[in-house]
Amino acid sequence: MSGHLVLLGPPGAGKGTLAKRLSQELGFLHLSTGDVLRAEVAQGTELGRQAKEYMDRGELVPDELILAMVRSRVAGEKKVLFDGFPRTLAQARGLEEFAPVSRVVFLSLAREEVIRRLSSRRVCLQCGALYNLLTQRPREDERCDHCGVKLVQRDDDKPEVIARRYDVYERESAPLVDFYRARGLLVEVDASLPPEEVYQRVRRALS
Ligand code: AMP
Repeated sequence: MSGHLVLLGPPGAGKGTLAKRLSQELGFLHLSTGDVLRAEVAQGTELGRQAKEYMDRGELVPDELILAMVRSRVAGEKKVLFDGFPRTLAQARGLEEFAPVSRVVFLSLAREEVIRRLSSRRVCLQCGALYNLLTQRPREDERCDHCGVKLVQRDDDKPEVIARRYDVYERESAPLVDFYRARGLLVEVDASLPPEEVYQRVRRALS
């Protein structure tokens, strides 16, 4: 598949896991705005400082900051896989101006399942690998399969923030489904299926 690809769907739908595999196998540059922002926060940059207060509350970082950050990273790239971006109609319209997308995969998942999955998600801070104590368990209890370090829970995967993140998704990001469907770009895949089945369906939809 040529051109840029967008992965859309609520937090916890499996975008990150899918994006890592798709980008390796199909040669996309994987651009997760959440990962970029977390790295900016960790490095203590000006952008990180501005973004942190929104992230901690489970709210969206302002569109202008996100669009500038994405724009500088996609310049000159031919195949980008956007993960967690765009998240608002303004971001989608902004993206159309500098990097039109050729396909959008919508991973659909019900609210209760989002909350259940995010509560059991764990990450490796060393290599970025993602796990889920329900669906993608690490081999050894709560340690990364690759680096062996103890897995942690993201601050925004704590119960009080999860519900807010889902509500923000419904309000701000769900309208993107119709936006891209109207452009004939949308493929919907049921994200409640086992991860391997989701992956195979997405591969078929993209071929
Ligand atoms: P994620 O890892 O995609 O769940 O993103 C974590 C947090 O980073 C979100 O809850 C937002 O605060 C922020 N964030 C990530 N991507 C975006 C985006 N495209 N627009 C606004 N905020 C974002």
